Amino acid sequence: MLTEIRYNEVTPKGLVVTTKEGERKTIEADTIVLAAGATPDKKLYEEIKGKVSNTYLAGDCVEPRTIREAIADGYRIGLEI
Ligand SMILES: Cc1cc2nc3c(=O)[nH]c(=O)nc-3n(C[C@H](O)[C@H](O)[C@H](O)COP(=O)(O)OP(=O)(O)OC[C@H]3O[C@@H](n4cnc5c(N)ncnc54)[C@H](O)[C@@H]3O)c2cc1C
Repeated sequence: MLTEIRYNEVTPKGLVVTTKEGERKTIEADTIVLAAGATPDKKLYEEIKGKVSNTYLAGDCVEPRTIREAIADGYRIGLEI
């Protein structure tokens, strides 16, 4: 796992990155999967808000975060109900 790297380019050999130490290197790969840039989908919430009493947003549909925040939201909303 590499942290704090900058992505430079995708080449036929793989992904070219710059490490936090400033070293430019290629991570060889056949396939690159992007798993970044998530955005919340609040469509269902907007549709039922006002039609269903006690409607709450919890977890990643508030904004993409971690399991910890999703559980905390559920706990807080459970207490409120
Ligand atoms: C690749 C990746 C890695 C991650 N790694 C970590 C990690 O290491 N540690 C960490 O803490 N967090 C991690 N997360 C974040 C974590 O997964 C989320 O914060 C957490 O799962 C949010 O929980 P949630 O219940 O809000 O949403 P989800 O876990 O996404 O659950 C939502 C559920 O609702 C269902 N659903 C959606 N629409 C409808 C509908 N219309 N009707 C019925 N069901 C529906 C979905 O199928 C899903 O099962 C990661 C996320 C990703 C994408």
